[in-house]
Amino acid sequence: MANLTIKNLSNNFGSIRCLDKVNLEVDDGQLAVIVGPSGCGKTTLMRCIVGLETFFEGSIFIDDELINNEDPKDRDVAMVFQYYALYPHMTVRQNLSLGLEHTTELTKDEIQKRVEEITNILKISSLLERKPAQLSGGESQRVAIGRALVRKPKIFLLDEPLSAIDAKLGRELRAEIKKIQRRFRVTTIYVTHDQEEAMAVGDKLVVLRDGKIHQVGTPEEVFNSPKDQFVASFIGKPPMNFFELKVKNKDDKYFLQNRDFFYEISKRYYERYLSKFLGKYLIAGIRPSSIKILMQNIPFMTTKTNAATVSLIENMGNENYIYLTLNSKKIIIKTESEIIPKIGDKIKFSFEEEDIHLFDIDSKESLKI
Ligand code: ATP
Repeated sequence: MANLTIKNLSNNFGSIRCLDKVNLEVDDGQLAVIVGPSGCGKTTLMRCIVGLETFFEGSIFIDDELINNEDPKDRDVAMVFQYYALYPHMTVRQNLSLGLEHTTELTKDEIQKRVEEITNILKISSLLERKPAQLSGGESQRVAIGRALVRKPKIFLLDEPLSAIDAKLGRELRAEIKKIQRRFRVTTIYVTHDQEEAMAVGDKLVVLRDGKIHQVGTPEEVFNSPKDQFVASFIGKPPMNFFELKVKNKDDKYFLQNRDFFYEISKRYYERYLSKFLGKYLIAGIRPSSIKILMQNIPFMTTKTNAATVSLIENMGNENYIYLTLNSKKIIIKTESEIIPKIGDKIKFSFEEEDIHLFDIDSKESLKI
C-alpha cells in the first residue's frame, strides 16, 4: 500500500532532453496508464522509478520517503518488461521464488506457500516445473507478472506487457492484469503506446508527449475533453475526423462551412462557443462513433447533412469502419448498425452539434475546455 509522487523529474541523454519536469501522482492502489507516441519517454520514466536510470533533476517519493538514491533492490518497486526476461535455465517455480530467497527473510516453506498462492491466482499452477522455453508468450508473461507480484511490492510497473502477445490473448490478459491489480490493491503504472489498451485498463490516463506530461484525467475525461488536437487524434480508435471550417452567419442562421462541407449550428451553440470566431477558421473534430449515416433512400429532415461516397468498408466484428470521400476529404465512420452501405454508394451523414470538438486553428488547443 503506497502513494507514488514524482516531482519535477528531468532526464537527458547526451544533449537530448528525454523527460522534462515530469510531475505525477499515483494514489494508493490506483492504476495509472501512461500512453504516448514512440520515443516520448515512457520507458525512461519507468526506469527512473525502478532505479535503473539516473536523472539530473527532480524527486521520487513512495509515501513520504525520498527514494532517489535508494538501490533498485531496496525500493520495493517491481517491474514487468515488454519481453518476459525470465531465467531460461530455471523452472517457473525457481523463477518465482528466486527474488524472495534473496530479498526476504522468509523460510523455504513460506516462500513455496507464496509462490503457490500467486500461481493459483494467475492460473499457472500447472506450469511450475516447466522451463521458460516450454511456455507460450502469454504464459511467460503471466510468470513475469507473478514474479513481480510475489514480492508484494509497494509499486508495480508494467512496461508494454502485452506488446509481444497476439491481440486476442492480449485482450484477455489485460482484463486479468486489471483484476489482479484490484485484488492486490497495488499502486501500479502501466505503460502502453496503444490508446485502446490505455482506455481499457486505466483508472487514470496520463498522456506523455516529448518527455512532458501533456494531459492527465480519467480515461473518460481525456476521451471526452481532449485538451488539444494532439490528444484528440491520439486517443480514440479509429481516430477523430478533423475539418477546417469557417464560422459564418446569414440572417439568423449560423454555419460551420468550407468548400466541401456545411453544417448548421444552433444560435445557442454559436453564442456559447463561436461568437468570437465569426468570419474565422477553426478546426472541428468529430469522433467516427458520433457520425450517423442517413441512407440515401431515407428522407432527411435537416440541412445538417452532407453527401459523400463510400470508398472502403472494414468489418471489425461487432462494428464496421466506413471510409467516405467528400470531394478530396476522407472521413471515417464507426457504426454498429447492421445497415451497411456498399462501396460507391452516395450517402448522407450527420451528427449532433454537442459532439463537435473545437480547436484553435493556430494553437490547436481545445476551445471547449
Ligand atoms: P517506445 O514506445 O518506442 O518504447 P518510449 O516512449 O518508451 O518509446 P523511451 O524508450 O523512454 O521512449 O525513449 C525516449 C527517448 O530517449 C527516445 O528519443 C530515445 O531514443 C532516447 N533514449 C532512450 N534510451 C536512450 C539511451 N540509453 N541513450 C540515448 N538515448 C536514449
